[in-house]
Amino acid sequence: VFILILIVFIIAAVKLSAAMSQKAMIPIQRTFKHQQQFLADASHELRTPLSIMNTSLDVIELENAETITPYSKEVVSDMKEEIGRMSRMLRDLLMLARSDAGSVEFEMAAFDMVPKLRQWVLAFESVAQKKGIALRTMFPDALTVKGDSERLKQLVYILLDNAIKYTPEGGKVDVGLDPNPRQWRIIVRDSGIGIAETDQPRIFDRFYRVEKHRSREEGSAGLGLAIAKQIVVAHRGSVVLESAPGKGSTFSVEFPV
Ligand code: ADP
Repeated sequence: VFILILIVFIIAAVKLSAAMSQKAMIPIQRTFKHQQQFLADASHELRTPLSIMNTSLDVIELENAETITPYSKEVVSDMKEEIGRMSRMLRDLLMLARSDAGSVEFEMAAFDMVPKLRQWVLAFESVAQKKGIALRTMFPDALTVKGDSERLKQLVYILLDNAIKYTPEGGKVDVGLDPNPRQWRIIVRDSGIGIAETDQPRIFDRFYRVEKHRSREEGSAGLGLAIAKQIVVAHRGSVVLESAPGKGSTFSVEFPV
């Protein structure tokens, strides 16, 4: 009888603790969801005053075009640059918060990747030229893929922007498209500063920058690759990074067919 009572007691205790942890999880999940929604709303709301400030600065510049001193002109221009930086950061935070909350809609459709990729790379031609960087491409004639072309464009822009940003003048950036029948790949290779092995797993974390001062000067917040990773995951893909300091970096993004 004693053993029977003990078994019943143990079963009841196990059931009770399971029920309690279930109950505890629901408010935690709810709080987490609230927090994600709060972050999404806050990022969205903060963008409006920033754009008003930007317009106000334009008005100040225009109204005082004749009398403004070179120093004040520089101050206004710095302010506009900072507003732009903050606005981009909020846009990225908003995207990450929405993605965490599962409210980013991915519109998957089949399309030919080659003309799109050509167009996306072309958008970086002038900035590469300004730095004397040779931007080369290696694409097949056509490659039909399934994905959200707007998001994939964002992913390619993040990788290309970084490749050019972290490659000194006179370097090389190559963009490739590998139509492997089992998994197709986008490859962005640069001859830039490279990334140390210890930093490699962390560069996809939010707000992680290898050289804080240097990349801040470049106007970056360390959110680009975090967004890139979300886009890749949503397409069930993966990123392979090969890099070494001073030897450049290669980001290969693989997608299942
Ligand atoms: P950021 O906006 O700072 O570029 P990312 O999330 O895109 O943020 O990148 C995180 C960090 O990874 C960068 O600050 C930089 O230190 C490093 N990084 C990213 N891409 C490259 C690259 N192609 N070459 C060297 N370092 C890179």
